Amino acid sequence: MHRKDSYALAVVIGRFSPFHNGHLALVRHALALADQVLIVLGSAAQPRTVKNPFLAAEREQMIRACLPDAAARLHFAALPDNLYSDQAWVTGVQRAVDASGAPATRVCLVGYEKDESSYYLKMFPQWRLEPFALTQGQVSATQVRDILFADLLETADGKTPATEDFATQPLALKKPDAGRDMLLASWLPAAVLDFIRAFRRTDAFEQLVREHTFLQTYRSQFVGLKYPPIFVTVDAVVVQSGHVLLVQRGAEPGKGLWALPGGFLDANERIADAVIRELVEETRIKVPAKVLRGSIKASQVFDHPGRSQRGRTITHAHLIVLEDSPAGLPEIKGGSDARRARWVPLAVARNMSESFFEDHGSILEHFVANL
Ligand code: NAD
Repeated sequence: MHRKDSYALAVVIGRFSPFHNGHLALVRHALALADQVLIVLGSAAQPRTVKNPFLAAEREQMIRACLPDAAARLHFAALPDNLYSDQAWVTGVQRAVDASGAPATRVCLVGYEKDESSYYLKMFPQWRLEPFALTQGQVSATQVRDILFADLLETADGKTPATEDFATQPLALKKPDAGRDMLLASWLPAAVLDFIRAFRRTDAFEQLVREHTFLQTYRSQFVGLKYPPIFVTVDAVVVQSGHVLLVQRGAEPGKGLWALPGGFLDANERIADAVIRELVEETRIKVPAKVLRGSIKASQVFDHPGRSQRGRTITHAHLIVLEDSPAGLPEIKGGSDARRARWVPLAVARNMSESFFEDHGSILEHFVANL
């Protein structure tokens, strides 16, 4: 058993999207155990999505607003995910803790083993794990986000939009009813509720409602299927003269975000054919298909189960390296699903994690880090 304050530092890892009463009890527990508390805000430096609607700075703001008395003892480290390397992610957590100067023997990790997504709590054997017993019932951030974003969009004739309506007609935001707010008030600390009321007036909120509704409608097609579909997609990382070819998404999900040109594999198509077809459809790149095909240098499967919100999606990404040319970069033009296409300097693209769709930043990094 540990005496109160026997730890110099308690580490609490989480997404806190948003910070709810269960999280608050967890952080209070950490504050009771240690002199200082380091909150590692996961899933940082990525665009807002329905799964992760709040920026790391906003989550820090929410947490601080809930715990004004502990301001001097609370510390934060925002950490991006690394979907394809738990070891790289663990290194990031280790660095944040090392920076505190606390010796490993006086550090504890405070977490609640909620479900299989809490596996990471076992990845830090050097710190004692202080488990947390539930005191607040099963409040879950997923439930909060569903209540926050669901059933708030309608067509002009008052219907829930179908997936095709998103591209073809204006959709209006409904006012949330009082019952919904009562539910939120029972799950969230008052300061978080205030934050959320202000957030509801932003364009970002409206975009998240659109995305939530689109994903709900899209996924409802597969509810009850014994074998839900596993989608196969392709993506192209086209590089020439220190630039990579990106497209800006013109439709939900991820409307407005930057992506690698790519898309779904057709039923009767080989994967390499699909890569070239999607690349040409989305960018109208002025390079003969034969040359594009002959310039494929590598391919890699990206299969993280959580990489896409539409459903399980496995992508086959291909690296295409085009030769430097005195004529400059090939002509391109956005087409089909892409709002526009652009050659982006690698120094810029490799810094765009906050505007990349799904795991496209990780895919890019995989191919170009050692090019
Ligand atoms: P979360 O916000 O769901 O939970 C944070 C903590 O609160 C957890 O200990 C959780 O069990 C606890 N909790 C949840 N509901 C509770 C309740 N009702 N009462 C008391 N405690 C409750 O965050 P999370 O998803 O566990 O966060 C992990 C973060 O680490 C994520 O951002 C994830 O992406 C990141 N991560 C990244 C990698 C990688 O990139 N390779 C690997 C593992 C984890």
